[in-house]
Amino acid sequence: METLGNGLLIVGAGHAGSELAVAARQGGWAGRIVLLGDECVVPYQRPPLSKAYLLGKADVEALALRPATAYQAARVELLQGARLVAIDRTARTVTLADGATLRYDKLALCTGGRPRPFVCEGIDAQHPPTNLFYLRTLADADGIRASLSPDAHVVVVGGGYVGLEVAASARGLGARVTVVEAQARVLARVAGTEVSRFYESVHREAGVEILTGTGVERVTCEDGRIVAVHCSNGQRVPADLVVAGIGMLPNIEAAVAAGLAGEGGIPVDELARTADPDIVAAGDNTLQHHVLYNRELRLESVPNALEQARAAASWLCGKPKPNHSVPWFWSDQYDLKLQMAGLSQGHDRCVLRGDPASRSFCAFYLQGNRLLAIDAINRPGDFMLTRRALAQSVVVDVEQLTDETVPLKELLVISAASTTGKP
Ligand SMILES: Cc1cc2nc3c(=O)[nH]c(=O)nc-3n(C[C@H](O)[C@H](O)[C@H](O)COP(=O)(O)OP(=O)(O)OC[C@H]3O[C@@H](n4cnc5c(N)ncnc54)[C@H](O)[C@@H]3O)c2cc1C
Repeated sequence: METLGNGLLIVGAGHAGSELAVAARQGGWAGRIVLLGDECVVPYQRPPLSKAYLLGKADVEALALRPATAYQAARVELLQGARLVAIDRTARTVTLADGATLRYDKLALCTGGRPRPFVCEGIDAQHPPTNLFYLRTLADADGIRASLSPDAHVVVVGGGYVGLEVAASARGLGARVTVVEAQARVLARVAGTEVSRFYESVHREAGVEILTGTGVERVTCEDGRIVAVHCSNGQRVPADLVVAGIGMLPNIEAAVAAGLAGEGGIPVDELARTADPDIVAAGDNTLQHHVLYNRELRLESVPNALEQARAAASWLCGKPKPNHSVPWFWSDQYDLKLQMAGLSQGHDRCVLRGDPASRSFCAFYLQGNRLLAIDAINRPGDFMLTRRALAQSVVVDVEQLTDETVPLKELLVISAASTTGKP
């Protein structure tokens, strides 16, 4: 058994793990830091996988979160191709898939998630079709890229961010694209109706066939490949490849077995602490109690992974800085940069500032006159102003919000209620 002297063992070398390792060293962690991950590449950014990388506009080197030398400089030991399978909290050890055991002083679980499997009639889960793809890893993106040609017909199952970004990139490469979405509109889980309709029209103008309110009933396979997707509206869509983007499952099996997590993720507080004082967790695998909203949230975004990782590092280094950041996210499709901040759940109206036809506008989500969230399309300035304001409780004059002659910063008035710290 290997013992890490005063060692911090970080499991999962993605956005959260890489950030935590470097932040812990910068924060003064004096002992060993081992960053262990089951992939065999230097920790890389996932967002470009559905965007620049799929389009061939970024190579593997450009994806690296930081150069390999940055880990050496921070004395972070990278252990690649190593998979955690079990945690013994009493002995403070972890077991790896190859049987090796490591003893830790502090453990950080940053294992992210994996794509939700696409199950339907015609798909043999034991022998999945060779042209059925998911998109989470570099290897997944390479598989899609190798199958994407201008004459290919791509069927994307799921009209969420990943699905729509793949659709935009595939169109950019000249492929024929059909998106099949079971909900009544694309982005139904994350955006308001106006923004969904805007994205549907943008994709249709770009030549993507968007089928909403339509499920996949079955697929037809020949020689281990899907050749057609049969939809609930009776349509048979021929397919050269199928990309399923139907959500994510957190990688929490070892944490569940160790009594640290239930189904939805590993519960953590604002310092990314789990129920075990020696274990923190950060990123897509966590269910965090968010002080701004006073409830449990599982957020799947790079900014969240980074903020939680920094909070975890601050606590491990004895200089606690809780994470109270406003959730935010971005998505790039065609020439459109969508940036969203806040949580729109519970809004009773959505107002637009700017004209969607100009491809530059904001959707503001409100409860009464209290601002909850923003979706900004090609409006980085408005996004930044609003994101900052959302950290407080903001009340707005809704009529003026739609009037572009009134500067936004004059409208974002912090209400007296903000002293409670709750929006
Ligand atoms: C295609 C795509 C596009 C995206 N676009 C955006 C975007 O535009 N904006 C945005 O904010 N977010 C985006 N996201 C989401 C963002 O990438 C995630 O929220 C972020 O990667 C979460 O970081 P993480 O460290 O929690 O998980 P990950 O980055 O997934 O890292 C987890 C790592 O842990 C490893 N691991 C898992 N289990 C084990 C184990 N048992 N042992 C060892 N290692 C293990 C995994 O292999 C992985 O390397 C996108 C995601 C995808 C897939």
